[in-house]
Amino acid sequence: MIERTLVLLKPDAVKRGLMGEIITRFEKVGMKIVAMRLVAVTEEQAKKHYTEDISIRRGEHVRQYLVDFVVPGPVVAMIIEGVDAIENVRMMVGATEPKSAVPGTIRGDYSHVSYSHADAEKKVVANLIHASSDKADAEREIGVWFEPQEIAEYKTVHEIHTL
Ligand code: ADP
Ligand code: MG
Repeated sequence: MIERTLVLLKPDAVKRGLMGEIITRFEKVGMKIVAMRLVAVTEEQAKKHYTEDISIRRGEHVRQYLVDFVVPGPVVAMIIEGVDAIENVRMMVGATEPKSAVPGTIRGDYSHVSYSHADAEKKVVANLIHASSDKADAEREIGVWFEPQEIAEYKTVHEIHTL
């Protein structure tokens, strides 16, 4: 099933110079970037992306830390398309807590901090990247960051040779 998912390279990834490394991983597995932009994030946009659902699942303080973390950015927003892209990208991203993220995943290879460290510091766990968690989230989040006309149509070599 060809799906689209929304990925954000969070400010820690941009400021650490990891944009290229991370984007390369998605290119290497043959998934297709169909939209991409470096964004200076507003509070309104951050709250649209990180909805009340975060407060329910993780606590109101986590939502506030997240908004403080991604505003004013920059973040790189992109739409990635591929076979089961939502699940595939989440697998490449790894566990939410960098300490628990296994080597080979993006979070596991480039970060290591723990929830308890983040809690003690009263901040978000800096884990480099966001990826939509399911179809409904992907559709909603794509709408937060992109207009339909910003999504490109083209064929990659993978579509010609491997799909
Ligand atoms: P994921 O990004 O893996 O989908 P969630 O959607 O549950 O994880 O949480 C969104 C983001 O909030 C996480 O990526 C992380 O940066 C941050 N976060 C989640 N839980 C905590 C926590 N207990 N303490 C600090 N930051 C957290
Ligand atoms: Mg999530």
